[in-house]
Amino acid sequence: MAKKQFKTESKKLLDMMVNSIYTHKEIFLRELISNASDAIDKLYFRSLTDDSVTLKHDDYEIRIAADKDARTLTVSDNGCGMTKDELENNLGTIAKSGSFDFKKGDENQAEEIDIIGQFGVGFYSAFMVADNIKVMSRAYGADEAFVWESSGADGYTVKACDKPDHGTVIILHIKEDTDDEKYAAYLETYRIRELIKKYSDYIRYPIRMLTEHRHKKDDSDEYETVKEDETLNSMIPIWKKSPSEVSDEDYNNYYKDKFGDYEAPIKVIRQKTEGSADYTALLFIPSHTPYDYYSREYEKGLQLYSSGVMIMEKCKELIPDHYSFVKGLVDSADLSLNISREMLQHDRQLKIIAKALEKKITSELSKMLKTDREKYETFFKAFGAQLKWGIYSSFGANKDTLQDLIMFTSSNDKKLTTLKEYVERTAEEQKKIYYAVGESIEKISLLPQVEAVLAHNYEVLYLTEDIDEFALQILREYDGKEFLNVCTENLDLADDADKEKLKEANEGAKDVFEFIRDSLSGAVAKVQYTNNLHNHAVSLSSEGALSVGMEQILNKMPGAEDQHIKAETVLEINVDHPIKDKLNDLFENDKDKLRDYSKILYAQARLVNGLSIDNPAEIADLVCSLML
Ligand code: ADP
Repeated sequence: MAKKQFKTESKKLLDMMVNSIYTHKEIFLRELISNASDAIDKLYFRSLTDDSVTLKHDDYEIRIAADKDARTLTVSDNGCGMTKDELENNLGTIAKSGSFDFKKGDENQAEEIDIIGQFGVGFYSAFMVADNIKVMSRAYGADEAFVWESSGADGYTVKACDKPDHGTVIILHIKEDTDDEKYAAYLETYRIRELIKKYSDYIRYPIRMLTEHRHKKDDSDEYETVKEDETLNSMIPIWKKSPSEVSDEDYNNYYKDKFGDYEAPIKVIRQKTEGSADYTALLFIPSHTPYDYYSREYEKGLQLYSSGVMIMEKCKELIPDHYSFVKGLVDSADLSLNISREMLQHDRQLKIIAKALEKKITSELSKMLKTDREKYETFFKAFGAQLKWGIYSSFGANKDTLQDLIMFTSSNDKKLTTLKEYVERTAEEQKKIYYAVGESIEKISLLPQVEAVLAHNYEVLYLTEDIDEFALQILREYDGKEFLNVCTENLDLADDADKEKLKEANEGAKDVFEFIRDSLSGAVAKVQYTNNLHNHAVSLSSEGALSVGMEQILNKMPGAEDQHIKAETVLEINVDHPIKDKLNDLFENDKDKLRDYSKILYAQARLVNGLSIDNPAEIADLVCSLML
């Protein structure tokens, strides 16, 4: 029979697995057991609603067998099994995860670990220790069974086979030992026992194996070998063990296995309460942003258990949107086993638990911020935008929870700062919290208004994320100090005498400004002098609630094409700059030239503010004609 080929990505992955230098080859057993447990879960879930599935919880098991002579290690389960199609689709390709993106070039070890951990390549990891794999499987309720077989990247076959019961049997032919690697150890009972204790102890179904024990015969000095069916895992879920029994590594391994992450979490939160809500929670904050986190595909939610039995994989009612990055589970004896989604939404108990979890997460994050700044900043870089989004999308309802957890880059040291820290550094008389918006810290620090505010020794928050300004606008103030975008015409740094002078200058130039504004055919709402530009000639600001930065972001959003969102833009001219006299002079003597100058100045102002211009060729020609 002709061999079928693996899909391209799978083939590359297989090559890598077969020739793996990955140091933790032992994880293959965890992966196979975890698949077996998932397969049993599936059938068990079905039995809750489908009377034709007659198995009881106690009927399920995972079985391990090692045969040193045949050099095989077998992992079996009596779970849901696979049909012929499922065998082909599930084991013939790993592209399911969609985002499997092989980087070209050196496949070094670090990269390997990344790939092995990141994308449920579980089953394939068996090729790190086996040179041939057979998967015999019979789907529950089906009357035929099939065997999938492969020796690696050259392809696989699927044939009919005999298998009396439903479930899956995976037979690994273990590789020959090499100088560096003693694969035969995976056939030793002690090693298997050790691996199961280390990685799979909490699996909720028994992992059994026939093991041999030597006993002294009664009343004699002779020994006999007795075979015994041994259960290798304690089946106690990790969150039910006493905290002193569980090491950080245990939690990390559990998290990686159950939540498919390749890095340990940055924070593990364990909570056990009794009282108005009786529950145990085990929560994890990932140490990096999941690749699909800021996409529609990402679903928040915690696993929900009722007395150790999982009743829901992703209960979104348990976690608020602003903490959607938190993974983990809640186990409560108060919840009924057959609870439906609709019932959950109204469940009082669940609401109480959700509130308590939110409080706990908030307090843990605050604690991290106070006691481990570096860790908190790592967390914040991964998920800070979500906290800010939480402030914005709730119209401030979550303000008290979140405002002390958010951070921005400070002009002081270009490091992250909290609002509290900003205010603590600020003199009583300073009534505003200044901020500026731009693509990057470098670009923001070049804004004329920023230079001006800094020259007055005020600190400026540098906002580089799309959500930043929207969040601050919802907050409006912190500790009695209002937020102010330095690129608005309200930026008011001058003393009274200067203000008076500016007012007079503005009034005297009304006609010039009107002419300039008209030359720009509607691009700006207003033209005015300012004393906020330090040494620079021109800049843009905005009046009203919508800043130029927000205009940009809103127009980038899907569906914004025909909305024409527009900030009220103000062209600001430095009252102390010689360009002022030049413009007045042209207004008297050469209006055509003033029209061209207006266009150039406006284009310059846009560029200075990090914006693009609509008519680059026209501006280039105008500037060139000035050079001639
Ligand atoms: P993952 O477990 O991350 O989905 P795997 O490569 O380990 O990736 O497995 C691929 C798929 O094969 C699983 O999603 C499951 O549908 C199926 N599968 C693997 N092992 C078993 C098993 N023992 N019983 C039933 N289905 C299985």
